[in-house]
Amino acid sequence: MIKNTLRSSRFVVLLLVLGASLSSCSTPDTAPPNILLIFTDDHASAAISAYGSTFNNTPNIDRLAAEGMLFETALVTNSICAPSRATVLTGKYSHLNGQMVNGPAFDGSQQTFPKLLQAAGYTTAMIGKWHLRSAPTGFDHYQVLVGQGPYYNPPIRTPTDTTIIEGYTTDILTDLALDWLEDGRPKDKPFLLMYQHKAPHRNWQPGPDHIDDFMDQEFEMPATFYDDHSGHSSAPAQSVMRIDQHLNANDLKITPPRNLTDEQLARWNESYDPRNEAVRASGLHGAELDQWKFNRYMRDYLRAVQSVDDNIGRVLDYLDETGLADNTVVIYASDQGWYLGEHGWYDKRWMYEPSLKTPFIVRWPGQTEAGVRNSDLVSNVDFAPTFLDIAGADIPADMQGKSLVSILKEGSDPDFRDAFYYQYYEYPASHCVRRHYGVRTDRYKLIYFYGIDEWEMYDLQEDPDEVSSIYGMEEHAVLEASLKVRLDQLREEYEVPEDTRPIPDGVCGSDVTGWMGYDAD
Ligand code: CA
Repeated sequence: MIKNTLRSSRFVVLLLVLGASLSSCSTPDTAPPNILLIFTDDHASAAISAYGSTFNNTPNIDRLAAEGMLFETALVTNSICAPSRATVLTGKYSHLNGQMVNGPAFDGSQQTFPKLLQAAGYTTAMIGKWHLRSAPTGFDHYQVLVGQGPYYNPPIRTPTDTTIIEGYTTDILTDLALDWLEDGRPKDKPFLLMYQHKAPHRNWQPGPDHIDDFMDQEFEMPATFYDDHSGHSSAPAQSVMRIDQHLNANDLKITPPRNLTDEQLARWNESYDPRNEAVRASGLHGAELDQWKFNRYMRDYLRAVQSVDDNIGRVLDYLDETGLADNTVVIYASDQGWYLGEHGWYDKRWMYEPSLKTPFIVRWPGQTEAGVRNSDLVSNVDFAPTFLDIAGADIPADMQGKSLVSILKEGSDPDFRDAFYYQYYEYPASHCVRRHYGVRTDRYKLIYFYGIDEWEMYDLQEDPDEVSSIYGMEEHAVLEASLKVRLDQLREEYEVPEDTRPIPDGVCGSDVTGWMGYDAD
């Protein structure tokens, strides 16, 4: 008995010593987790089966959702490529990080979460689409596309040179990411890998593995495909992004990509039979022609998505095979949402749901419960503070987003955010989408198109497709007033200045030029 007691005491002491060493040193159990951000460009939630796609299956993205947490209401601060990336990097809105529109170079001298993770002992890498013009900062390693980057045979820029790699870009970026994970990083430090695809950005060029997919599928147009905007302000009718009117020959694959090898071009022409399709299309009119364009658009978009999903599967398999999966937080997100024919559109930019929302899934082994769906009002402005919190690093007070760690651990936080602020600045650019800002709550949305002094308001429960604005209706006056108050409060809280940049009159930028190559915005 005495002997046993002594043994127990020793055991307790041993446990205490072990416990002390566990908390003071890095061991596999307490080491900060690796962070893998899988980031795509223009991926609509409607093209992910975990989000309920009726068009396609994405088994690998679905696997992340089944093993982690899927966010149904992840909202972007400014629904366009470079500004979204800047928000992710800084945890701040566009007016504070300086990236209000595409085009100007990102100020890479400012505070970003990769720099802070570096300071916290992480090795950091950026592989894929960067799209911020200035050279990446805060990374121990980078291999990035030049500008938009092409779908085939991409030039890859490193700190020292730019080299063309032959093949399909989505596959190549994955090869580079796996090479870095296997041979490029120090194995004794936690890592941040930002693995960022060009796909499925315009102009939706499929890779060799999926070039024939969906060939016989007729896609059902959304109910709002022929929206005449009679229920909106004058802004939507002024825009240039309709599938039935504004897709060009390059988008519709009447002309093949310019930078293919002979072998790639032969495969392309065999699959697309461009002359026959053009002849066929030239004989179509009205709704038949619209359906032909919609099918063509959807096929190519989804084909680009399928390659992304395949390649995510390669990365998840690698994490499993190497044992990295257990201590790696894997995030899937896009830079914004996208239109698959809602309101007749392709593209993004608007504060309406399909472009305001982005897919966002987090798998954090041992922390997030598997298969949870969360509907809190979260945002891409929350990514940076979340990643820092996951790493155990301090969150700077000037970041405007909030850590999602408690949501990831608890499943939800009903008090996380009652209202979300949005602002889009890039008018006229190529699509003539009027500048606007607004507020979204869990049920309502108020939008102000400040260049033309027009408002819209929606009850998302009654009108989820946002086709009939209820702004200015007497029966909603109290709601309208309260949303305006909340909007003003948010503008003050986030220190949003008046946008006094002159608003040009007249013609939008051409929708056609710039897309033939790969270096356009
Ligand atoms: Ca984008």
